[in-house]
Amino acid sequence: MLAILHPDTQLDSDSYRQTMSFLEQLPGVAVKVHEVVGASQRLTEIYLLGDTKSLDKDEIEALPAVERVIRISDDYRILGRHRDDQRQSGFTYNGVEFSQHNLNVFAGLCAVDTPEHVEIMMRALSEQGQHCTRMGAYKPRTNPYSFQGHGKSCLPWVFETAGKHDIRVVAMEITHESHIEEIDECLEKLGRPTGVMLQVGTRNTQNFELLKAIGRQKTYPVLLKRGFGITLNESLNAAEYLASEGNANVVFCLRGMKTDAGQPHRNMVDFAHVPTVKRLTRMPVCIDPSHSVGSRDKAPDGIPDVMHATAQGVVAGANMVLVDFHPRPEKALVDGPQALLMDELPAYLEDVRECHQLWKKRQQLYRNTGEARANDHLWSSRSPG
Ligand code: PEP
Ligand code: MN
Repeated sequence: MLAILHPDTQLDSDSYRQTMSFLEQLPGVAVKVHEVVGASQRLTEIYLLGDTKSLDKDEIEALPAVERVIRISDDYRILGRHRDDQRQSGFTYNGVEFSQHNLNVFAGLCAVDTPEHVEIMMRALSEQGQHCTRMGAYKPRTNPYSFQGHGKSCLPWVFETAGKHDIRVVAMEITHESHIEEIDECLEKLGRPTGVMLQVGTRNTQNFELLKAIGRQKTYPVLLKRGFGITLNESLNAAEYLASEGNANVVFCLRGMKTDAGQPHRNMVDFAHVPTVKRLTRMPVCIDPSHSVGSRDKAPDGIPDVMHATAQGVVAGANMVLVDFHPRPEKALVDGPQALLMDELPAYLEDVRECHQLWKKRQQLYRNTGEARANDHLWSSRSPG
């Protein structure tokens, strides 16, 4: 059961104290407090865990600090959607909004390689009005002899270049909790010219100690990749690990699934699950068409498979796109064969915008049909346009 307190309830107020002393004496019930800091208000959510079936919802709703009570299912307590659950989804980080209603593109290098390539990439993004990029300094590689990323040595020039081009968020994978501190120290030293979204790779989706460490800090939001060989439920529970430790600023990323079926793409594209994840949880959903498709191949219609896959995800309501580009893919140290070329960037971004608009039009088509009205509350916080 979840008790949501009146906005901006002070933790030293009488109403909070009275409410907590009532809740804490409930037999067989553990009380866990979760703070949600939004742009305009602070919200306190109190999770009542354990033997809550016999609790009287009305009695708890009548406590002085409580605004409303939601009965929640066991799955994804913090990040999930529950019956009559109208809590907001998403968050704002470093001036960039992440929600289930909007869309951000994170085009960039798979891995940081040379300062020149980083400069070309970020300049091109900035010229296209983009404020986000992807770029790995710590690379988890299948082969121990492959390039493992430049690590912390490249962080200063990557972050400075990002700041110079007004790139506000860099999605950067980390593979060990010590990397959080390396990133944080570097950003702090430079006066925070940019921000970082910590990426958990598909190989680490169930690295629970890493998830807990990332979840314990609230400075950086998280991009969690779906595990390539586990169930969707298991991957969503991995996201819940982050939230249960205190960090609910999580974007969930679909990146294709490993199958034994033999296939033309690196992984089986799973972007039909975009709406599923949005229905089950309040997380913004990202797609990674590059690691799904794994090549620059084009269809006979002249459109790269990566773009076709992107379109599928965005038309289905994806909120973020993580995509590999490179000025000279033949020189890339990681994943060159799947990187799109710089002169494809404007068309790519335009195509993404068109697909996002189409998703909005599609919602209008269904707005007044069937059970759509019953689900309206899911979208009550939608911003116009
Ligand atoms: C990546 O985004 O660079 C990456 C390694 O992705 P994944 O974890 O999905 O393989
Ligand atoms: Mn890669």
